[in-house]
Amino acid sequence: MTRKLTKVIKIGNRYLGGDNPILIQSMSTYLPRDIDNCANEILKLEDAGCDIIRVAVKDMIDATMIKELKKRIHIPLVADIHFNYELGIKSINSGVDAIRFNPGNIGKNESLKALVDKAISTNTPVRIGVNSGSLNPKFKDSSLSLVDKAVESLKHYVSLCEEYGLTNLVLSIKMSSTLETIEAYEKISALYDYPLHLGVTEAGLSDNAIIKTSIALGKLLNEGIGDTIRVSITGDPIREVTSAKSILRALNLHDSPDLISCPTCGRTEIDLEYYANEVQKELEGIHKNIKVAVMGCLVNGPGEAKEADLGVAFITGHGVFFKKGEVIYSGTIDDAINKLKEELKQYK
Ligand code: SF4
Repeated sequence: MTRKLTKVIKIGNRYLGGDNPILIQSMSTYLPRDIDNCANEILKLEDAGCDIIRVAVKDMIDATMIKELKKRIHIPLVADIHFNYELGIKSINSGVDAIRFNPGNIGKNESLKALVDKAISTNTPVRIGVNSGSLNPKFKDSSLSLVDKAVESLKHYVSLCEEYGLTNLVLSIKMSSTLETIEAYEKISALYDYPLHLGVTEAGLSDNAIIKTSIALGKLLNEGIGDTIRVSITGDPIREVTSAKSILRALNLHDSPDLISCPTCGRTEIDLEYYANEVQKELEGIHKNIKVAVMGCLVNGPGEAKEADLGVAFITGHGVFFKKGEVIYSGTIDDAINKLKEELKQYK
């Protein structure tokens, strides 16, 4: 895979675009005014591997609270602005690291210009996003396909921002269908060198959202398209971050542990799902590229466990713990799993 080298944008203490790591984003389910819940949730997301966090800014109270929120968290903070450009200006004054808005709902061009001027004068990066549900009215009723309406809408907004002198830009063009998302991002990637924020919008509940997003983002990332990703899920944002990590890891684009466990079958004599979950919990907080196997029986167990950096296989009534292919312990399954968990502590 050859990565498309986009323009590098600095967001807080992170670099986005170029050949920098692909950054994982999520969004808080709390407003900044709910400061304790909002900050605590973001700290948990940081631990889970979130690189950039976005918060909804609904009114001036939220925009003001950005200042306090910034003191409590460590990752770059993006303010999500709709309808009122002054919320963007206030958020920037409160020290936000970037703002995201859809120019289509910011109002008159003068309002857009005022917000863009503020972003330029403070060197604040801006993501402009078009979603399939928020197209520019100019293109809404045209005979173009939905993807082309979104592409034309985004082109229109990019031209406006560029006319006003803003080039510190990240772009997104999220569609709610997998195939349309792929087509839309391929078209935008061919047109611009701005870094792209990938995602499928309104992707749905957990399994459906993860599958739709994995297919769309997997294809795009494998073509070298995309600099930051969000897996939108109706539900716990921690799941958004862990799924994003899994997508990136599957494409060798992220250093994090990979748990290999067999699907279980009639030969399985232990509660493998329980033990795999125990090990998965222990993998949280590890940011290294290691392979860990938890396997049910003799058929594929020893092979997979030996191939992995660390592994446990249940073989003829024994829990066998392997480290780099060598048998370290053979005894009860609980003891073998505990030895594996103990070993994992060294990677934290
Ligand atoms: Fe079944 Fe053994 Fe394969 Fe697991 S490793 S699925 S228990 S045959």
